[in-house]
Amino acid sequence: MQDQDHKYRPKREAMTALLHQNGIKNERVLEAFLTVKRHLFLDTAFWDVAYQDSPFPIGQNQTISQPFTVAYMTEIVADNYTKGSKVLEIGTGSGYQAAILAELGYRVFTIERHAELYEKSKQTLEKLRVSLMQRLGDGTLGWISVAPFDAILVTAGSPNAPKALLEQLADNGRLIIPIGNETKQRMSIFHRQGDTIYEHQTHDFAFVPLIGKQGWQP
Ligand code: SAM
Repeated sequence: MQDQDHKYRPKREAMTALLHQNGIKNERVLEAFLTVKRHLFLDTAFWDVAYQDSPFPIGQNQTISQPFTVAYMTEIVADNYTKGSKVLEIGTGSGYQAAILAELGYRVFTIERHAELYEKSKQTLEKLRVSLMQRLGDGTLGWISVAPFDAILVTAGSPNAPKALLEQLADNGRLIIPIGNETKQRMSIFHRQGDTIYEHQTHDFAFVPLIGKQGWQP
């Protein structure tokens, strides 16, 4: 099926304007949201609602995150790191967040634990010619062979900050991760400066659980 973008471009513009209204200020981030076609990361049944500021099901009981949430996490990266920086995403899901990061010029690595979602997102990202590295596995252990990373984004809710991810942060690197219980989490930022890691917390969000050796137990 054609991407029907003549129909979706105005909806994407309205979504981006709403993100701006809701506090996303970084111009590069807003530009990326205008460019990446969210509907193509969803089944066609969701195309007409794809530009609402809502999560939607993507199969395996998982969701594509709400655009505001994606923009919020992306803005933390974009405000602190220039193009070419190395970014690891845990929880590829549909591939949308990874595509936004790639659009911003980051070297993106992304890990998904569900084989079906890994395969589907791989097809989507290849079709859209998004350049990144992806793999199937437990993201709570990070990606040791390509570490360290300037930023690590965890797009699922965790009971704590996985030690492996903290260890894979570069100097001046940040781990951005929602921490809390299985229904509500607070966005937490761990900033490595030399041998010290500083933590601060921002707003509440609701993510599906991060399941793995250093997250919620399967
Ligand atoms: N970033 C995704 C997107 O743009 O569509 C949305 C992510 S969805 C809210 C969370 C994803 O994290 C799910 O696809 C889930 O399977 C995945 N996940 C949960 N635990 C994981 C783990 N330990 N390693 C890798 N992926 C994990």
